[in-house]
Amino acid sequence: MSTRSLRDRHGRVATDLRVSLTDRCNLRCTYCMPEAGLPWLPKPTLLTDDEVVRLVGIAVSDLGVREVRFTGGEPLLRPGLPDIIAAVAALDPRPEISLTSNAIGLDKLAATLEEAGLDRINVSLDTLRPERFTELAKRDRLGATLAGIEAAAATGLAPVKINTVLMRGVNDDEAPALLRFALAHGYQLRFIEQMPLDAGGTWRREEMITAAEILESLKAEFDLTPDPAHRGSAPAETWLVDGGPAKVGVIGSVTRPFCGDCDRTRLTADGQVRNCLFARGETDLRGLARSGAGDDEIAARWQEAMWGKLPGHGIDDPSFLQPARPMSAIGG
Ligand code: SAM
Ligand code: SF4
Repeated sequence: MSTRSLRDRHGRVATDLRVSLTDRCNLRCTYCMPEAGLPWLPKPTLLTDDEVVRLVGIAVSDLGVREVRFTGGEPLLRPGLPDIIAAVAALDPRPEISLTSNAIGLDKLAATLEEAGLDRINVSLDTLRPERFTELAKRDRLGATLAGIEAAAATGLAPVKINTVLMRGVNDDEAPALLRFALAHGYQLRFIEQMPLDAGGTWRREEMITAAEILESLKAEFDLTPDPAHRGSAPAETWLVDGGPAKVGVIGSVTRPFCGDCDRTRLTADGQVRNCLFARGETDLRGLARSGAGDDEIAARWQEAMWGKLPGHGIDDPSFLQPARPMSAIGG
């Protein structure tokens, strides 16, 4: 058991680590990445598989992290993913291991990842209409995403969670259809408010679809009652659909922020700790590790990075500045 923890000065303790394995992606969701892509991180700056496992090991064994989620960019593009998962599953204590993915290629990889030790998966799916998918993600890959989701569910990575971002005038009429689809297949659907993390800086508060609007549109077709289960540090507020047991979640990151209960710490693909999605600063663990620092020194630097976490993301503050990196390079 670790005796140390990732506390901040506001009383929160981070036990959930998000690890970005790459900033690259095979889609170009407009709220995340520009169509032309981005200048990718140079290969030498990326953590190697061994470095990822070492840093995750310090978080889990020395700093009290209990859940590790791999993300990106698109984490399925990382060739070493099964080996990284297997090595993390062998840590003591064994953390919960999950993945956030667009599911492209998962039809071929789901069984391997599950055998390696993956416990759960979240898949992003914003539309069920092929033309719309192409408009939204700039690639004609809806079929591949749906095949990946099916394979994950069939492999035992169930219940598959689906994340949906709604955008005004693009897919904001599809909330009920997506919920019908999720209910029919036994997937758990969560809507996420769009956050100012796109590469182009085009996000506008007054244009985003709010949690209240999402609920309104679902209530036109479904009976929603607040979920009596305890929410804890989970970002999603959940509702029972038509009396339950099926549920739907809404993550109101902007209009209903949950910063006071945040239990996350983040590691980017190039080895920088971020204490918040919206942090303006980062702490370089890659340089420290490559300079020969021991586990204790790295753990201490990680603790320092978290101690300075701000109480909230401040999106509503007039002085708010979007982080320099977009979502794809931070790791959503
Ligand atoms: N490529 C994987 C995927 O799409 O699931 C993992 C990385 S992606 C950055 C992780 C999550 O962030 C996805 O569910 C995506 O919808 C969400 N996301 C990306 N940009 C966002 C934004 N500006 N606001 C809200 N959610 C966003
Ligand atoms: Fe790629 Fe995920 Fe960003 Fe879409 S949201 S562009 S799938 S990283």
